[in-house]
Amino acid sequence: MVPQKEKKAFKLIKGMKDIMPSDQKYWEYLRKILNRLSFDYNYDRIDTPMAEFTNLFKRSVGDHTDIVEKEMYSFEDKGGEKITLRPEMTAGTVRAYIEHGLVNKPQPVKLFYMGPCFRYDKPQAGRQRQFWQMGFEAIGDEAPIIDAQVINMGYKLLSKLHLPSVVQINSLGCNECRPNYHEVLLDFVKAKKKQLCEDCKRRVNKNPLRVLDCKEESCQEIIADAPQQVDYLCDDCRTHFVSVLEYLDELEIVYNLNSKIVRGLDYYTRTCFEYTLQDAGESRQGVLGGGGRYDGLVEELGGRPTPAVGVAMGAERIVKELKRLDIKVPELKQYDIFVAQLGKEARKKCISLYEELLADDLKVVENFSKDGIKGQLEQANKLGVVYALIIGQKEMVDNTVLIRDMENGIQETVDFAKVVSAVKKRLKAKEIETV
Ligand SMILES: [Zn+2]
Ligand SMILES: [Zn+2]
Repeated sequence: MVPQKEKKAFKLIKGMKDIMPSDQKYWEYLRKILNRLSFDYNYDRIDTPMAEFTNLFKRSVGDHTDIVEKEMYSFEDKGGEKITLRPEMTAGTVRAYIEHGLVNKPQPVKLFYMGPCFRYDKPQAGRQRQFWQMGFEAIGDEAPIIDAQVINMGYKLLSKLHLPSVVQINSLGCNECRPNYHEVLLDFVKAKKKQLCEDCKRRVNKNPLRVLDCKEESCQEIIADAPQQVDYLCDDCRTHFVSVLEYLDELEIVYNLNSKIVRGLDYYTRTCFEYTLQDAGESRQGVLGGGGRYDGLVEELGGRPTPAVGVAMGAERIVKELKRLDIKVPELKQYDIFVAQLGKEARKKCISLYEELLADDLKVVENFSKDGIKGQLEQANKLGVVYALIIGQKEMVDNTVLIRDMENGIQETVDFAKVVSAVKKRLKAKEIETV
């Protein structure tokens, strides 16, 4: 025999993860809460493609951001077009808003989404290269009440998941007042340039704001007493910011004024915020999501000047916290009846009995691959069903079914013809909804 070359099993791409069946209940729960919030606040679902023209992200996220400089999954397609897998969801959403003329609808247009994003990040930092974002965007209104409501939606999403958070909030000003601050900040960081990390040294001239959210501890110390944007806001921006905070007070949202929140994307203006866990514990990745206003983005991408604000949450990080804190989420499936069989003839009978039970909308489950009754009952027990219906050799001969109450082990024999109504009656007596 010719020795077969051993085939190497394929592995995941670095930084990407499977969401296995055992984790799906967390994801389903997230989707459920997201959908419920979208209903409560009247947001409509939008799904945009995972790939867009590279320039969309260069123009929106910004040329000198880490995302565009280092982290984009970009390639040339066969037609020579420069394509990028979306690193975030807002740019595509705004592109769609412009392209489909949503500006002509009553404003603000309220949209929500959930989908995978891609960033070629360092996986050792616990970040994934494909990760899911879910969020809300309100496009077409600059009123501070919208900011507060959007902040509230992210806050509520977390609190509904039993992850109480604190909102870290800042204002980044507008095109009028931002340049003044940047100048002051530039002077400050230039004076400290020698002590900054290599990344920050580069950032100083290109985008001094980014120095503020550098993760290096040495940089954090240096910028601890950097000038703060809120001290340089123009009157309009200050009024807007104060008003947002008043609404947050009204909603009794826990927040912290935090001048280091800059979000690392160029399109943010005025309000910007992040959610950190109230009890971050040993979790180093306290930030579960964030967002802000992006009043200039629609125009930057070719639309009419249109103010907007949004929030996005990181699904993986939330799931990780749910698991870390051992928060119970609803199981995906709960069955009431297990159909167990012994022998070839019984199996034949059971395959149609199964369909009959399904036709009556009963929550029924089986394992026709198994032979022994004992093993099947063990599985029934694990699945937490209320009754097992058993057809063995004796039941075949008598044309009956054994109904076993899984809670107390009591068994009763009923006629095969009456088994569906008999089991329904018993479920009803236990006040288990059968539809
Ligand atoms: Zn301003
Ligand atoms: Zn740094």
